Amino acid sequence: MAAKRESKRARAARMRREYDRLREFIPVTKCQLDYRTPFELIVATVLSAQTTDRRVNGVTPELFARYPDADALARADIADVESIIRTLGFYRMKSKHVIELAQALATRFAGAVPQTMEELTSLPGVGRKTANVVLGNAFRIPGFPVDTHVIRVTGRLGWRDADETDPEDIERDVTAVFPPGEWTDLSHRLIIFGRTVCTARAPQCAWCPLNDSCPSAGDFLDLPSARTGTRRPAKRRTTAHRTTKTAKSKRTTTKSAKPPRTSTSRSREAAADDAGPR
Ligand code: SF4
Repeated sequence: MAAKRESKRARAARMRREYDRLREFIPVTKCQLDYRTPFELIVATVLSAQTTDRRVNGVTPELFARYPDADALARADIADVESIIRTLGFYRMKSKHVIELAQALATRFAGAVPQTMEELTSLPGVGRKTANVVLGNAFRIPGFPVDTHVIRVTGRLGWRDADETDPEDIERDVTAVFPPGEWTDLSHRLIIFGRTVCTARAPQCAWCPLNDSCPSAGDFLDLPSARTGTRRPAKRRTTAHRTTKTAKSKRTTTKSAKPPRTSTSRSREAAADDAGPR
């Protein structure tokens, strides 16, 4: 018999319950990029595309020592910027982008970083995700950055329809369920969770704190731990959502699984190694 389709109301209630557990599992959230000013954060975020936060944090101290604000970076010699950030992928293109970004900030906003989505996304190299990072972290204005981890985790958890993959649609639908004051931390938690537990290639469903309600848990529970064994192909999903009863029965197969060392220590290590965009 086909699984009963979950109503929107039931899904929203489940999302809130699951997020309460994520808050316990990841009690502390923080932007993984080092920054002191909105200018440093917007530049660091642009630099972080397709590379790790750790690598970006490795080059920005020298970059910001040489070019501490938009006016200075707007006048930078591109060869000098390239030499500072050359350990990052696409460093030539990124050097061009951050200089053009600084020039736009200097000429159109008197060197300040604007505080609206419309103004931010009018800047060269700044998309909606970067704008949400800046709004939420630099200005504490509710923002929900949707990156590859958020797309994957919300899909596996069934927090969105399976065929809804446009980041802006995901942002609209997920934020509709949570209060604005929670959006930035919600995104941080989903990203950390996606980097450490619900990873792309080997989700750790056996000790995942959401495995009794996640509709995708059964798809991966037959996989050995990424740390201990060879992976076998995952079962394909056959239903949009499993019932809680079914998910609970899957959980009984996980008793021997080892939990993570600690959520926060492992999160930080894995986050530093992650190569996905923010
Ligand atoms: S149970 Fe598995 S698929 Fe579901 S959220 Fe947890 S790690 Fe991801």
